[in-house]
Amino acid sequence: MENMCKNYVIAIDGEAGTGKSGLAKSIAEKYNLVYMDTGAMYRCVTLNMIWNNISLDDEEKISKLLDNIKIDMEKEEGEDKFFLNGVEVTKQIREKQVNDLVSQVSHIPIVRERMVELQRKLAKGKKIVMEGRDIGTNVFPNAQVKIYLTASAPERARRRYEQNKKKGIDIPYDEILKNVMFRDNNDKTSSVAPLKKADDAFELDTTNYSIEEVENIVVSKIRERVALDD
Ligand code: C5P
Repeated sequence: MENMCKNYVIAIDGEAGTGKSGLAKSIAEKYNLVYMDTGAMYRCVTLNMIWNNISLDDEEKISKLLDNIKIDMEKEEGEDKFFLNGVEVTKQIREKQVNDLVSQVSHIPIVRERMVELQRKLAKGKKIVMEGRDIGTNVFPNAQVKIYLTASAPERARRRYEQNKKKGIDIPYDEILKNVMFRDNNDKTSSVAPLKKADDAFELDTTNYSIEEVENIVVSKIRERVALDD
């Protein structure tokens, strides 16, 4: 087995609502790994642009905003909380105004460049589960483990709907479905780091699996490549 006891990256990529976050979080908690939600980072940039009324094509202002942005994730009472320049934004970054813009923001080359740089820096010297769209293809093309999750669009929208409900976010199912499909299309056809499976990633269609089943399959795949602490 490769990489016993060394630092490593487990890359979990896939479309919106395939269960990446829940899976990555659960694996990180159980096996004592650092968890990084890269989608939340793009969401923070988007929210910051909204706060400052910066348009998608204003490169100069976006660049300045990125120079000064501070994104932190902290665990409080078992929950991951996100802070943007010191302000807690856990709920805001999941709201409609961010959902509608985040895909476009994440395809602005300078945003992508800076976030990827930050993601690589944050992962240094760690055993990490990093979840996103381009982790296995672009951020860490040499990641020791690459997982690519898919699921049907209605099932993904249903999962997002339930997730939101638990978080107290009220967005109708139809709207979520529309947004999920819009973002997927945008993410897949982007000219900067489009969403696609890395050639060496393990692909899993999660539509008909429970969360536990997905986790069992993925953990056994991970164990083929790296050692997990039990
Ligand atoms: O994972 P989540 O749905 O929160 O991601 C929000 C958006 O951020 C995605 O629709 C995608 O456009 C963008 N994203 C990205 N690259 C990543 C993670 C997310 O472009 N690594």
